[in-house]
Amino acid sequence: MGYNIISFMIVDITKLTEKFPVEFNMTHTIGLKGSNLQSPNIDLTLIGIVCKNGEFFVCKAQANTDLCFLCDFCLTPIQRNINFSIEERFKKTTDRPTQGEDEGITHLDSNQIDLHQTCMTNLYKHIPMQVLCSPTCKGLCFGCGSNLNNHPCNCTKEQETTDPRFDVLKKLKF
Ligand SMILES: [Zn+2]
Ligand SMILES: [Zn+2]
Repeated sequence: MGYNIISFMIVDITKLTEKFPVEFNMTHTIGLKGSNLQSPNIDLTLIGIVCKNGEFFVCKAQANTDLCFLCDFCLTPIQRNINFSIEERFKKTTDRPTQGEDEGITHLDSNQIDLHQTCMTNLYKHIPMQVLCSPTCKGLCFGCGSNLNNHPCNCTKEQETTDPRFDVLKKLKF
């Protein structure tokens, strides 16, 4: 799976101080490729806050999106809500040269926190590999393509009557 960057999820922290955290509420359109979604473009809402804690900028956010999948068996559209939380710590690169002890910290070289990568990584973790309209979905008929959940088709019957193996059986006299 891949994605197109249609818009960036940027939080500006120029005016951020310890007393005044920066709150944000933004919705962005993201393009997802190679997934079982009905539409490759989705709207993701991100609501959160960035607080300054010493030399660190701590970002906590809640992401929310409604995705429309196609059932893997019968291709019926199914709406699913996907939500997850994000927590990430940032530090300005200019505060101190990059050292090995900064594990789990993302370095910033500007006053802009870009949450796109974090969002995408988390989003893919939450997209199910397989979505079914119901655990008992009967799928589509391989013969005529009709949705077997809605009505049974006549394919199986016809196959039985025209199957040469059954013709042989008919000729046999018991
Ligand atoms: Zn289905
Ligand atoms: Zn059929």
